[in-house]
Amino acid sequence: MLTGIKAFALEVVYPQKTMTVISSDSTFFIGSSNPNLPLTVNGRPVKVHRTGAFAQTVRLNNGKNIFNLESGEEKLIYIIDRPLPLLNLQNQQSCLKEYSAPVSAFTAKDGAVLRQTPVDSGINRLAHFQKDIPLIIDGENGDFLRTALNSTTKAWIYKGDVQTAGNSAPAALKNYERQDNAEFYIFNFDFDKKTPYIIQEGNPLKVTFYNTAGNPDLTYVFEFPLTRKLNGYSGRFEGSGFVLKIRKYPASLSGLKIAVDAGHGGDEFGAAGCLGDLEKNINLAVSKYLEEELTKRGASVIMTRTGDTDLGLQERVLIANENDAGILLSIHANSLPDNADPNANRGTSIYYYYNQAKPLADSILSSMTQKLGTRDDGVRQGSFALVRNTDALSVLIEVAYMINPYDNELLRDRNFQKQCAKAIADGIENYIKSE
Ligand SMILES: [Zn+2]
Repeated sequence: MLTGIKAFALEVVYPQKTMTVISSDSTFFIGSSNPNLPLTVNGRPVKVHRTGAFAQTVRLNNGKNIFNLESGEEKLIYIIDRPLPLLNLQNQQSCLKEYSAPVSAFTAKDGAVLRQTPVDSGINRLAHFQKDIPLIIDGENGDFLRTALNSTTKAWIYKGDVQTAGNSAPAALKNYERQDNAEFYIFNFDFDKKTPYIIQEGNPLKVTFYNTAGNPDLTYVFEFPLTRKLNGYSGRFEGSGFVLKIRKYPASLSGLKIAVDAGHGGDEFGAAGCLGDLEKNINLAVSKYLEEELTKRGASVIMTRTGDTDLGLQERVLIANENDAGILLSIHANSLPDNADPNANRGTSIYYYYNQAKPLADSILSSMTQKLGTRDDGVRQGSFALVRNTDALSVLIEVAYMINPYDNELLRDRNFQKQCAKAIADGIENYIKSE
């Protein structure tokens, strides 16, 4: 007997309201009904999974769309309004304005993002600056200022993150020291003031300091040859000194600090599954099994949340970094936008942002798809807060799809959740051994 299902009443989980507005050429109904009765949407049969879960894509015409859902005696009517596409009146062609003379400025807040292009999206981040990093501004484009790092390198920073003023005279490197410890290679660069920098992953790991006196094109490049895969690093100013920490490669899972982040929580439900279950609860269940499994194998686990609590994205990253985690795993279950098909999409996918985390993502994905039998939904680079962290190898795992009836049954199953934790732990162990 199937447990956990209230009764086989016809229930729709998405769209949430019987009258709603959706600006897309298609959407879907997600919900549950009695699997022993035929279900129809506007007279057309819909496949009902053995758990009662269903997902059905429907096309939307401009204006009002009426949908009749029928299962036995039960009947629901949904009216979805698709508004006419708005004409883009703004048609704002942003364009580059170059200044006749450069202007001195400095970053006005911590976490100011230095970008390759004047756009707030995609994979274009070059650095996350702390407050008070001096910059030379030589142009602007839309909401962004262009900074000249040296004679050939330009980068972009959001106007609101910068204050014009100050002194952009070159910094001087006074001294340099190396002080490794058991966990890190540590380099201290003693500057007389802060200066812009970019860290580039690769072998060697490269830190380029700009606007530094006594160097060709005022540019000083520090290189650290790696003997093993890059495995977490940080570079930040402490006062006027720059501290570069490169994490040593772990010998085994034993003693390794791993942060496990159960996505969403509290008022943030995440996605809703066909049978009405909430992503936040499934994420937490998988995360707790993961804590148990990793602890059993000798890792030291830091949980960002252990209950149904609200927690900001930056807070989660901070918890991982303050506890010096070497790996950060954010656990989620997937959903889809209106114009996608919830029956066609299922399986496990893993996101990373920095290249150093890709081999770990690959290893966890192959372990999960092999051991759980979930479809390989790919390893992708994505700009999510939880993976835009270099201190730890940071990956976001979409275990399976909440809104796919097949995946939804797996996600609700305690045994699957346990096996999932084992498969993730195996993936981490395989990654460590692969060196
Ligand atoms: Zn999520």
